[in-house]
Amino acid sequence: MTRTATTDDRRSVAVVGSTGSVGTQTLEAVVDDPDRYDVIALAAGSSVDALVAQSLEFRPSFVAIGDETKRQDLVDGLTAAGLDIEVGSGTDALAECARRADITVNAVVGFAGLPVTLASLESGKRLALANKESLIAAGPVVQAARRTPGAEIVPVDSEHAAVHQCLRANDVATRVARIQLTASGGPFRGRKQAELESVSIEDALAHPTWSMGPKITIDSSTLMNKGLEVIEANELFGGPAGDLGCGITIGDIDVVVHPQSIVHSMVTYSDGSTIAQLSLPTMKLPIVYALAFPDRFPVPYGAIDWATLGSLDFETPDLDAFPCLNLAFEAGRIGGTAPAWLSAGNEVAVEAFLAGMIRWIDIADINASVLAAHDGGNGATLEGVLEGDHVARLRADELVKEACNR
Ligand code: MG
Repeated sequence: MTRTATTDDRRSVAVVGSTGSVGTQTLEAVVDDPDRYDVIALAAGSSVDALVAQSLEFRPSFVAIGDETKRQDLVDGLTAAGLDIEVGSGTDALAECARRADITVNAVVGFAGLPVTLASLESGKRLALANKESLIAAGPVVQAARRTPGAEIVPVDSEHAAVHQCLRANDVATRVARIQLTASGGPFRGRKQAELESVSIEDALAHPTWSMGPKITIDSSTLMNKGLEVIEANELFGGPAGDLGCGITIGDIDVVVHPQSIVHSMVTYSDGSTIAQLSLPTMKLPIVYALAFPDRFPVPYGAIDWATLGSLDFETPDLDAFPCLNLAFEAGRIGGTAPAWLSAGNEVAVEAFLAGMIRWIDIADINASVLAAHDGGNGATLEGVLEGDHVARLRADELVKEACNR
């Protein structure tokens, strides 16, 4: 049975990272369900023109740009469009968006999303989390913020949205035995290590099943995305039973390659029963799940046609060809600032690859060297995490230079 939204049901939404892949899909989802959500804040890193166009369409009360040097361009663009909207710039302006809305979709790319994650949780609001790096790099800091009354994370990452749904199938969260995260395998699935030495940027960006931004698409090609998702799952679901926690450790998480991207992840309970979540591979579904949770509203994004689905295949990942997956397990087991180091080094390496400076296979080598250089540090404080991120980036910059000179 469906019902019509009333005024009381309307939720205010901030979309931070609104001009990227998840951001634009979130806004499309809002347009598809116009009676339910009010977009009150929009923020982008540096894409002024797209942000002005979105502001014209959604009429938010606050617009922010991460890049301080673009502030005047944004003010001018809004004025030229006849819009009188409060403008903010810089990191804290992105966080300010999160303080103002009932629900914040954090779709920032990379570590830059951390202030948004913290601001949303510390304000006791819902965080629809698409920015996995903030949770990975600053796990203990984010966990503390999660304990703010009213704060909750609903994952937008499709695998974690799937696990979130699977965990709700059972009241006894302590009876979870294992979590299986599925991976499409990316564009290089089935290729051996030696066949990957000369792959191009275009090859790596050609994802077979998911349409995503460039950083995460490259991460999918190296399986680093899946590795980061293992750490993300451990942070989201590894706590004591209650809320999202089910007491698992990183050793209880498996990665299984599933090229059709229909099963988005699974939870196996102590009695050997596995609960899986299946749907079409569109990011709109986990986005609307995170907006509507715990309700489910009708959306026009299709459902599986079982008669034409065909087979669902599952394989073990090739850890020789895709060493980044093991690096992430290692960083997750070390804990502390190790995930922050790995994620920071990976951001630098992926950026260098996308700029044509290094080869695809150099990404894994740089990540391995950065993790090997990890020297502890305090992962429980924001200062410690920022320091770890900074030092790891410096080390990765050096490694990029060395790789360029080879
Ligand atoms: Mg994912």
